[in-house]
Amino acid sequence: MRVSIFGTGYVGLVTGTCLAEVGHDVVCVDVDAGKVERLRQGIIPIFEPGLEPMVRSNHAAGRLDFTTDAARAVAHGEVVLIAVGTPPDEDGSADLQYVLAVARTIGEHLERPVIVVDKSTVPVGTADRVRATIASVLAARGADIGFDVVSNPEFLKEGAAVEDCMRPDRIVLGADSPAAVEKLKRLYAPFNRNRDRFVVMDQRSAELTKYAANAMLATKISFMNEIANIAERVGADVEMVRKGIGSDPRIGWHFIYPGAGYGGSCFPKDVQALARTAQQHGHPPLLLDAVEAVNERQKGHLHELALRHYGAAGIAGKTFAVWGLAFKPDTDDMREASSRRLLAQLWDSGARVRAYDPEAAGEARRIFGERDDLVLCGSAQEALEGADALAVVTEWKQFRSADLAQVRAQLADGVLFDGRNIYRPEDAEEAGLAYYGIGRGRSV
Ligand code: NAD
Repeated sequence: MRVSIFGTGYVGLVTGTCLAEVGHDVVCVDVDAGKVERLRQGIIPIFEPGLEPMVRSNHAAGRLDFTTDAARAVAHGEVVLIAVGTPPDEDGSADLQYVLAVARTIGEHLERPVIVVDKSTVPVGTADRVRATIASVLAARGADIGFDVVSNPEFLKEGAAVEDCMRPDRIVLGADSPAAVEKLKRLYAPFNRNRDRFVVMDQRSAELTKYAANAMLATKISFMNEIANIAERVGADVEMVRKGIGSDPRIGWHFIYPGAGYGGSCFPKDVQALARTAQQHGHPPLLLDAVEAVNERQKGHLHELALRHYGAAGIAGKTFAVWGLAFKPDTDDMREASSRRLLAQLWDSGARVRAYDPEAAGEARRIFGERDDLVLCGSAQEALEGADALAVVTEWKQFRSADLAQVRAQLADGVLFDGRNIYRPEDAEEAGLAYYGIGRGRSV
């Protein structure tokens, strides 16, 4: 099938590459000419396991091309996917300017019937707006061309995006046209082989499904962080509590890890946008507001632990090794990452930072620029050199097996702030470290 995709970010690039991998003829279009040029040369702008060789092989095979030429992309696709960003607007609602710009572009260049598929995360009612936008541009051109709009929210996870795209848990299709649904079922058939993953519904429900999924996951995290803060105060260990509740199948093991707060390009903005939608429809979003407030507070928790150890005036002049900058492991994405809050707070307190992340150094350089109080290091070991304390912010696998005795030997003050509870307090203490985890009452 001939497919065009607007937006070559995490969603557009991964989806386009996976569709090409299963034999579709894909053209990806982006307004960022530099990105398109690099992609044509096989240089991948993001870190995503398994993606690079697939982009290169499918590009070489002629099934995956990149362009800035929107007219060419609209002419190419029987199915046109919208996968551009929907960042938060000033009031927290989703900014639809990029989605609607693509809708206008499609209207301007459309010459034959097409199915427009919205993969971006968009508020309820956006499919109607996309349809109205395309229709009004076509009308202004005097063109009478049929088209369908399908809401097909994306559920891939950064860090496992290729795997998620090739083997999705579910494929949600929000559509009012049976013919469009059939066509998209054919498009995605290679990802749907061992069981039926399609969940077909109306467009509004499909749009809300995506926000509900992210809000539920964010709620689980904030809930556990709330429990962690209680555990800390009452002398309990939240890791024991986690094991105690996760074994209940009604609760389950997933997403009940306490930590330094959730980040990334999705949870913070999607919880906010859903809360905004609720407000706009006269429903005060009490739970969603609390989920966000708990997370905001939690992002400052590592700094609070540092204050607890050093005292208000004690942080100035200290050097913190920071392990992990990405908002989670296996990605270089630092959007809304908890590390950004910690670094800002440490700098405000007069500390210096030696940071290491396996993939996000380039992103950190772009965000922070050159600063006297930041050294981006080439290894976890190097980050410890000359540091007083260590803060672990992202639970990259390689940090889990750190030699804590060696960490102790390197840190002048021997303090470990474990923002993801990846170490056992007793192991850290045995190595001679002062250990601070999240919600581990015994360390208070
Ligand atoms: P991104 O910011 O990584 O990429 C968006 C791309 O769209 C950019 O390359 C940008 O240059 C391009 N773009 C903007 N306007 C354009 C236009 N008019 N024509 C062509 N290209 C244009 O975004 P992303 O992380 O891939 O997210 C895209 C959407 O998918 C968002 O709505 C997001 O909420 C949603 N989503 C993201 C994830 C994720 O893990 N990143 C997961 C599920 C859903």
